[in-house]
Amino acid sequence: MTTASQDNSTATPPPVNLDDGKYAFFFDVDGTLAEIQSEPDAVTIPSQVRDNLKLLADHCNSAVALVSGRPIVQLDKLAAPLVLPAAGVHGAELRDVAGNLHRVQLAEGVASALQVKLETAMEEMPGTLLETKGMAFALHYRQAPQFEKQVLALAESAVAEFPELTLQPGKCVVEIKPHGIDKGAAITAFMQHAPFNGRTPVFVGDDLTDEKGFHAVNGLQGISVKVGEGASAAHYHLDQVTDVHDWIAKISLQLQQDKTGKEFTL
Ligand SMILES: [Mg+2]
Repeated sequence: MTTASQDNSTATPPPVNLDDGKYAFFFDVDGTLAEIQSEPDAVTIPSQVRDNLKLLADHCNSAVALVSGRPIVQLDKLAAPLVLPAAGVHGAELRDVAGNLHRVQLAEGVASALQVKLETAMEEMPGTLLETKGMAFALHYRQAPQFEKQVLALAESAVAEFPELTLQPGKCVVEIKPHGIDKGAAITAFMQHAPFNGRTPVFVGDDLTDEKGFHAVNGLQGISVKVGEGASAAHYHLDQVTDVHDWIAKISLQLQQDKTGKEFTL
Protein backbone atom coordinates (compact mmCIF):
# COMPACT_ATOMS: atom_id res chain seq x y z
CA MET A 1 0.00 0.00 0.00
CA THR A 2 1.40 3.41 -0.90
CA THR A 3 1.13 6.44 1.33
CA ALA A 4 0.47 10.13 0.82
CA SER A 5 4.15 10.88 0.50
CA GLN A 6 4.61 8.44 -2.36
CA ASP A 7 3.64 8.53 -5.99
CA ASN A 8 0.19 6.98 -6.03
CA SER A 9 0.08 6.56 -9.79
CA THR A 10 1.10 2.90 -9.75
CA ALA A 11 -0.65 1.78 -6.59
CA THR A 12 -2.55 -1.45 -7.11
CA PRO A 13 -5.96 -1.27 -5.50
CA PRO A 14 -6.77 -4.18 -3.20
CA PRO A 15 -9.29 -6.93 -3.79
CA VAL A 16 -12.71 -6.21 -2.35
CA ASN A 17 -14.99 -8.95 -1.14
CA LEU A 18 -18.64 -8.11 -1.59
CA ASP A 19 -20.20 -11.23 -0.17
CA ASP A 20 -20.27 -10.13 3.45
CA GLY A 21 -21.76 -6.66 3.05
CA LYS A 22 -18.56 -5.26 4.43
CA TYR A 23 -18.15 -2.11 2.36
CA ALA A 24 -19.78 1.31 2.24
CA PHE A 25 -19.22 3.33 -0.92
CA PHE A 26 -18.84 7.09 -1.26
CA PHE A 27 -18.51 8.74 -4.64
CA ASP A 28 -17.68 12.28 -5.64
CA VAL A 29 -19.58 13.25 -8.81
CA ASP A 30 -17.82 15.79 -11.07
CA GLY A 31 -14.57 14.32 -12.34
CA THR A 32 -15.35 10.97 -10.70
CA LEU A 33 -18.75 9.61 -11.79
CA ALA A 34 -19.20 12.30 -14.46
CA GLU A 35 -16.83 13.88 -16.92
CA ILE A 36 -16.13 17.55 -16.15
CA GLN A 37 -17.74 19.91 -18.65
CA SER A 38 -17.06 23.56 -19.36
CA GLU A 39 -20.54 24.37 -18.02
CA PRO A 40 -21.57 22.69 -14.71
CA ASP A 41 -25.12 22.28 -16.10
CA ALA A 42 -23.83 20.15 -18.99
CA VAL A 43 -22.55 17.40 -16.67
CA THR A 44 -24.27 13.99 -16.76
CA ILE A 45 -23.82 10.56 -15.21
CA PRO A 46 -24.29 7.93 -17.95
CA SER A 47 -27.45 5.84 -17.55
CA GLN A 48 -25.49 2.59 -17.43
CA VAL A 49 -23.46 3.95 -14.52
CA ARG A 50 -26.66 4.92 -12.69
CA ASP A 51 -28.05 1.43 -13.28
CA ASN A 52 -24.87 -0.12 -11.92
CA LEU A 53 -24.90 2.16 -8.88
CA LYS A 54 -28.44 0.98 -8.14
CA LEU A 55 -27.31 -2.64 -8.23
CA LEU A 56 -24.47 -1.79 -5.88
CA ALA A 57 -26.76 0.16 -3.54
CA ASP A 58 -29.28 -2.70 -3.48
CA HIS A 59 -26.51 -5.14 -2.66
CA CYS A 60 -25.02 -2.93 0.08
CA ASN A 61 -28.28 -2.19 1.89
CA SER A 62 -28.13 1.38 0.50
CA ALA A 63 -24.65 2.07 1.89
CA VAL A 64 -23.78 4.01 -1.27
CA ALA A 65 -23.65 7.80 -1.01
CA LEU A 66 -22.80 10.75 -3.22
CA VAL A 67 -20.39 13.28 -1.68
CA SER A 68 -20.15 16.42 -3.77
CA GLY A 69 -19.78 20.16 -3.82
CA ARG A 70 -23.08 20.35 -5.66
CA PRO A 71 -26.35 20.93 -3.80
CA ILE A 72 -28.38 17.77 -3.22
CA VAL A 73 -31.12 18.99 -5.57
CA GLN A 74 -28.58 18.86 -8.40
CA LEU A 75 -27.25 15.48 -7.29
CA ASP A 76 -30.77 14.06 -7.43
CA LYS A 77 -31.19 15.31 -10.99
CA LEU A 78 -27.88 13.78 -12.02
CA ALA A 79 -28.62 10.43 -10.36
CA ALA A 80 -32.35 10.22 -11.28
CA PRO A 81 -34.27 8.02 -10.99
CA LEU A 82 -31.86 6.86 -8.31
CA VAL A 83 -32.14 8.63 -4.95
CA LEU A 84 -29.07 7.98 -2.83
CA PRO A 85 -27.95 9.18 0.58
CA ALA A 86 -26.02 12.34 -0.20
CA ALA A 87 -23.71 15.02 1.13
CA GLY A 88 -24.21 18.19 -0.89
CA VAL A 89 -22.22 21.43 -0.79
CA HIS A 90 -19.26 19.46 0.67
CA GLY A 91 -21.45 18.27 3.54
CA ALA A 92 -23.28 21.50 4.41
CA GLU A 93 -26.31 19.46 3.31
CA LEU A 94 -26.61 15.86 4.48
CA ARG A 95 -29.44 13.51 3.57
CA ASP A 96 -29.45 10.18 5.34
CA VAL A 97 -30.80 6.89 4.05
CA ALA A 98 -34.25 7.63 5.49
CA GLY A 99 -34.42 10.90 3.58
CA ASN A 100 -33.89 13.17 6.59
CA LEU A 101 -32.15 16.37 5.51
CA HIS A 102 -29.68 18.27 7.70
CA ARG A 103 -28.60 21.66 6.40
CA VAL A 104 -26.07 24.15 7.79
CA GLN A 105 -27.33 27.73 7.71
CA LEU A 106 -25.33 30.94 7.66
CA ALA A 107 -26.21 33.77 10.06
CA GLU A 108 -29.04 35.93 8.76
CA GLY A 109 -27.92 38.48 6.20
CA VAL A 110 -24.53 36.92 5.51
CA ALA A 111 -25.55 35.05 2.36
CA SER A 112 -27.34 38.02 0.81
CA ALA A 113 -24.51 40.44 1.64
CA LEU A 114 -21.98 38.06 0.21
CA GLN A 115 -24.03 37.51 -2.92
CA VAL A 116 -24.13 41.24 -3.65
CA LYS A 117 -20.40 41.56 -3.07
CA LEU A 118 -19.52 38.61 -5.31
CA GLU A 119 -22.00 39.45 -8.06
CA THR A 120 -20.82 43.03 -8.26
CA ALA A 121 -17.17 42.05 -8.50
CA MET A 122 -17.66 39.18 -10.93
CA GLU A 123 -19.71 41.28 -13.34
CA GLU A 124 -16.39 42.97 -14.08
CA MET A 125 -14.83 39.61 -15.03
CA PRO A 126 -16.55 38.37 -18.21
CA GLY A 127 -16.67 34.59 -18.51
CA THR A 128 -16.57 33.94 -14.78
CA LEU A 129 -19.61 32.29 -13.21
CA LEU A 130 -21.02 32.72 -9.71
CA GLU A 131 -22.91 29.69 -8.42
CA THR A 132 -25.04 30.34 -5.34
CA LYS A 133 -25.72 27.33 -3.10
CA GLY A 134 -27.53 28.93 -0.19
CA MET A 135 -24.86 28.62 2.49
CA ALA A 136 -21.96 28.45 0.02
CA PHE A 137 -20.77 29.98 -3.21
CA ALA A 138 -18.71 28.66 -6.09
CA LEU A 139 -16.69 31.12 -8.15
CA HIS A 140 -15.98 29.44 -11.48
CA TYR A 141 -13.30 30.66 -13.89
CA ARG A 142 -12.97 27.67 -16.26
CA GLN A 143 -14.18 29.88 -19.14
CA ALA A 144 -12.03 32.83 -18.10
CA PRO A 145 -8.74 31.51 -16.67
CA GLN A 146 -7.16 34.94 -17.10
CA PHE A 147 -9.16 36.01 -14.03
CA GLU A 148 -7.86 33.26 -11.74
CA LYS A 149 -5.86 35.62 -9.52
CA GLN A 150 -8.65 38.17 -9.28
CA VAL A 151 -11.22 35.49 -8.43
CA LEU A 152 -8.98 34.05 -5.71
CA ALA A 153 -8.37 37.54 -4.32
CA LEU A 154 -12.11 38.21 -4.29
CA ALA A 155 -12.78 34.95 -2.45
CA GLU A 156 -10.04 35.73 0.07
CA SER A 157 -11.46 39.17 0.75
CA ALA A 158 -14.92 37.66 1.25
CA VAL A 159 -13.59 35.18 3.79
CA ALA A 160 -11.70 37.96 5.56
CA GLU A 161 -14.94 39.91 5.84
CA PHE A 162 -17.03 36.94 7.03
CA PRO A 163 -14.91 34.83 9.41
CA GLU A 164 -17.53 32.07 9.66
CA LEU A 165 -16.59 31.17 6.10
CA THR A 166 -13.58 29.43 4.61
CA LEU A 167 -12.12 28.77 1.16
CA GLN A 168 -12.13 25.53 -0.79
CA PRO A 169 -10.07 25.67 -4.00
CA GLY A 170 -10.92 23.21 -6.78
CA LYS A 171 -10.42 22.71 -10.50
CA CYS A 172 -10.96 26.16 -12.10
CA VAL A 173 -13.16 27.07 -9.16
CA VAL A 174 -12.81 28.47 -5.67
CA GLU A 175 -15.62 27.88 -3.24
CA ILE A 176 -16.64 29.78 -0.14
CA LYS A 177 -18.28 27.58 2.47
CA PRO A 178 -18.95 27.48 6.22
CA HIS A 179 -16.05 26.54 8.53
CA GLY A 180 -15.90 22.91 9.62
CA ILE A 181 -17.73 21.70 6.53
CA ASP A 182 -15.76 19.28 4.38
CA LYS A 183 -16.09 15.87 2.77
CA GLY A 184 -14.12 14.20 5.56
CA ALA A 185 -16.60 15.41 8.15
CA ALA A 186 -19.47 14.35 5.87
CA ILE A 187 -18.14 10.80 5.42
CA THR A 188 -17.40 10.54 9.14
CA ALA A 189 -20.98 11.60 9.89
CA PHE A 190 -22.40 8.97 7.53
CA MET A 191 -20.18 6.29 9.04
CA GLN A 192 -21.74 6.81 12.46
CA HIS A 193 -25.17 5.63 11.34
CA ALA A 194 -26.84 2.71 9.57
CA PRO A 195 -26.42 1.39 6.97
CA PHE A 196 -22.85 2.73 6.86
CA ASN A 197 -21.68 2.03 10.42
CA GLY A 198 -19.62 -1.08 10.90
CA ARG A 199 -18.61 -1.17 7.26
CA THR A 200 -15.29 -0.29 5.65
CA PRO A 201 -15.57 2.98 3.72
CA VAL A 202 -14.49 3.23 0.09
CA PHE A 203 -14.22 6.79 -1.23
CA VAL A 204 -13.49 7.76 -4.83
CA GLY A 205 -12.75 11.39 -5.71
CA ASP A 206 -10.64 13.51 -8.01
CA ASP A 207 -10.08 16.98 -6.62
CA LEU A 208 -8.54 18.98 -3.77
CA THR A 209 -11.93 19.04 -2.09
CA ASP A 210 -11.75 15.25 -1.82
CA GLU A 211 -8.48 15.19 0.12
CA LYS A 212 -10.15 15.55 3.52
CA GLY A 213 -12.40 12.68 2.52
CA PHE A 214 -9.34 10.58 1.70
CA HIS A 215 -7.80 11.43 5.08
CA ALA A 216 -11.01 10.48 6.90
CA VAL A 217 -11.30 7.17 5.03
CA ASN A 218 -7.62 6.38 5.61
CA GLY A 219 -8.17 7.02 9.31
CA LEU A 220 -10.99 4.46 9.25
CA GLN A 221 -8.73 1.89 7.53
CA GLY A 222 -10.82 2.31 4.41
CA ILE A 223 -10.01 2.42 0.71
CA SER A 224 -9.24 5.86 -0.74
CA VAL A 225 -9.07 6.18 -4.52
CA LYS A 226 -7.87 9.26 -6.38
CA VAL A 227 -9.02 9.73 -9.97
CA GLY A 228 -6.54 11.43 -12.29
CA GLU A 229 -3.23 13.16 -11.78
CA GLY A 230 -1.89 15.10 -8.82
CA ALA A 231 -0.47 14.46 -5.38
CA SER A 232 -3.01 12.95 -3.05
CA ALA A 233 -3.48 11.36 0.35
CA ALA A 234 -5.41 8.59 -1.40
CA HIS A 235 -3.82 5.16 -1.26
CA TYR A 236 -5.06 4.05 -4.67
CA HIS A 237 -5.49 5.48 -8.10
CA LEU A 238 -7.63 5.29 -11.20
CA ASP A 239 -6.61 7.22 -14.30
CA GLN A 240 -9.89 8.74 -15.43
CA VAL A 241 -13.66 8.86 -15.13
CA THR A 242 -14.12 6.00 -17.60
CA ASP A 243 -11.97 3.82 -15.33
CA VAL A 244 -14.38 4.56 -12.47
CA HIS A 245 -17.25 3.58 -14.77
CA ASP A 246 -15.46 0.37 -15.75
CA TRP A 247 -14.81 -0.45 -12.13
CA ILE A 248 -18.45 0.04 -11.17
CA ALA A 249 -19.49 -2.01 -14.22
CA LYS A 250 -17.17 -4.78 -13.11
CA ILE A 251 -18.78 -4.87 -9.68
CA SER A 252 -22.21 -4.79 -11.26
CA LEU A 253 -21.42 -7.64 -13.61
CA GLN A 254 -20.13 -9.69 -10.75
CA LEU A 255 -23.19 -8.99 -8.66
CA GLN A 256 -25.40 -10.14 -11.53
CA GLN A 257 -23.33 -13.23 -12.26
CA ASP A 258 -22.78 -14.35 -8.72
CA LYS A 259 -25.16 -13.18 -6.05
CA THR A 260 -22.85 -14.51 -3.37
CA GLY A 261 -20.10 -12.10 -4.48
CA LYS A 262 -16.47 -12.86 -4.90
CA GLU A 263 -13.27 -10.97 -4.58
CA PHE A 264 -12.45 -8.67 -7.43
CA THR A 265 -9.77 -6.10 -8.05
CA LEU A 266 -10.62 -2.43 -8.24
MG1 LIG B 1 -14.82 16.13 -8.31
